[in-house]
Formats: sequence, structure tokens, C-alpha cells
Amino acid sequence: MRLVFVIFIFLTSTLSGCIGEDDISPEKRGIPGGLALACLQDSKFTKMELHFLYEENYDPIGMDLVKTRINEVCDKPNGIKIKAEMVDFTIDTSWTDDDVRDARWKHGGNAMGSSTLHWYFLFPKGTYSDDSVLGVAVDASTIAIFKDSVEEAEGFLGRPSAEDVERSVTVHEAGHLLGLVNLVYTSPIDHEDENHKGHSNNEDSVMYWAINSNDVGNFISGELPDEFDNADKSDLEGMASGELKTKNQLWT
Ligand SMILES: [Zn+2]
Repeated sequence: MRLVFVIFIFLTSTLSGCIGEDDISPEKRGIPGGLALACLQDSKFTKMELHFLYEENYDPIGMDLVKTRINEVCDKPNGIKIKAEMVDFTIDTSWTDDDVRDARWKHGGNAMGSSTLHWYFLFPKGTYSDDSVLGVAVDASTIAIFKDSVEEAEGFLGRPSAEDVERSVTVHEAGHLLGLVNLVYTSPIDHEDENHKGHSNNEDSVMYWAINSNDVGNFISGELPDEFDNADKSDLEGMASGELKTKNQLWT
């Protein structure tokens, strides 16, 4: 036992001596919003890839829309690409935050590491442990959308439709990766809902608190919002320009 221990220490110190600690320790995962500036600014990341990992028959339908919404607020002079890939997640019943993180880091690659920023959108079979939840953002580059629950959230007479709900929830969760609302900054505008932290109080914003709950059809009778509102956009502009102080960033 003692010999093994000594050799292990020796190997570790040799490695850290030649390639540097950062290269052998796993990438930091951060909190939702931890890669907001990485998207909003172009100083380190000039390109972006949106990875959609989906279980068979769980094809995402909001890919183009979420790319459009991200493109409207982020600065990526060399473009944003969609990469879709079918994977077998093996879990098909109930998901926790840890399950989502494990699956994303098992099937996906690093978020940083080059001039391309990578965000991951998982579309697994099954539901979140609280099955009223339609989507979650679990770290700085990872979200999951639970289509089985999205189907259930379709409103009476199909309004809003499951497709509308999925598109809105996908943009909503991407909004959390951008730090909305008040996740990594404090807005000068009073638009965070008092009872639902991290969410908007404006039902015309895609960040409205009811958007990631299966009650959504009961709260919004007309068209579901799938865009950031002016207050959201003003926050994102403030973060991008540096006017708003942004904390918990992974790379600055
Ligand atoms: Zn939310």
C-alpha cells in the first residue's frame, strides 16, 4: 500500500511539473450564468457551438430559434453553429441535477479550451425529479429539456401547443445560461419576480417565471413569449458593455 501511495504522489508531481495544473484538472463547470460574458463578448470566444444531445424520438424543435435568440444578444463574429447528435442516455425515468450534469460531461466535451464556446442542450427521455419542471439549467454550459413533461403541458384545446411550449422553454433555459434574471448581476430595473427568484415578473418575457413549469398553459392564455423583453435585453447589454458588474464568471 505504501509503495503505491509513493508512486502516485511521484506521478502526480511529475505531471503537474511538465504540463501545468490547469491541463490535468477537469474544466470548471460553474453556475448558470457563469459563461454569460463568454457569450455576450467576443474577447476570448469568437465562435460558438450549440450542441443538442437528444434521445431517439426526442428531436429538439427549437434549435434554430434558440440560435437566433442567442445571436441577437451575443457577440460571435465567426458565427454560431448548431450540432445535433442522437445519444442513448440510459436513464429514462427520473432525472436529478446531478444526473443531467453527469450525462452532459459524459457525452459532451469541454465548454471552453479554444476560441469556440460550447453550450449543451440535453433532450432526454423521462422527467425531472419534480415532474412539474419542464427544463433546468444545471451549470454554466448545460441545460436539459424534458419533452415528456412538455407534451403534458400542452394547454386545453392545444393552446399553447407542445411545440410552442418547447420552443419557449428552450429559449428560457438559454436565458439562464446568459445569467437572466439577476443570476450573476443585479439589474437596475425592477423586473425580477419577488416570489420566483431568477425569473422575470413580465409575462411578455420568455424569462417569465411560469415558463418552465407545466402550469404554463394556465398562466398564459395567449401567445407564449419566446423572446427576451426590453428589461432582459438592457441587462444583457449592461453586462456586455461592463456597465453592470458581472460576477462568478469562469474565464475572466
Ligand atoms: Zn427558469
